[in-house]
Amino acid sequence: MRIALATGNQDKARELTGLLGGAEVSLAPEGFDAEETGTTLLQNALLKARALRAVDPSDATVVGDDSGLHVHALGGRPGVFSSRYAGPEATYDDNCRRLLEELEGADDRSAAFACVLVALPPEGGLLVACGTCPGQIAPAQRGEGGFGYDPVFVPRGDERSMAEMTPVQKHAISHRGRAGRRLAALLGLEAA
Ligand code: IMP
Repeated sequence: MRIALATGNQDKARELTGLLGGAEVSLAPEGFDAEETGTTLLQNALLKARALRAVDPSDATVVGDDSGLHVHALGGRPGVFSSRYAGPEATYDDNCRRLLEELEGADDRSAAFACVLVALPPEGGLLVACGTCPGQIAPAQRGEGGFGYDPVFVPRGDERSMAEMTPVQKHAISHRGRAGRRLAALLGLEAA
């Protein structure tokens, strides 16, 4: 099976390629960037998948993804705006710093990552898989691995931040790992 990933984010593409084992995975063309105008992860995942399908009418199954961090004390923010939380050009570090500032003094630091994956098979139809990972926002950034908010996110039942885990350890419990395994099963791919 051929899978075309509708994401311009190299970090997410690397993780998804590892999760969709057994498929021949190709990345979106250089510069691919669908505008994320949806208000939900599902809408944005679909927007990305349909945007890639429009420029890649091949026999590949197109997979679109959207993910975000939902912080309870912030009413679920940054959510769909996670990549742009500290501004349109924000770096991962800018976003982590803004989050730590906003949560300064907060008693409730609970949060959850969520990921929605959609697949558009060449013969038509739509498959959807979701995954979540509950946890806490750490008081400071820790660890060098992963990407995004990983240095400030401590999964429930663990003491390490996600950035202190190996990729295999992160995939076992992460929102993307959970959604990816569910989508792989729906597509009949081997489990990664
Ligand atoms: P989008 O899915 O391209 O809109 O980006 C979602 C944003 O959420 C990313 O830029 C990261 O900031 C954050 N994010 C999503 N998944 C992860 C993850 O596995 N670890 C850390 N941050 C993540």
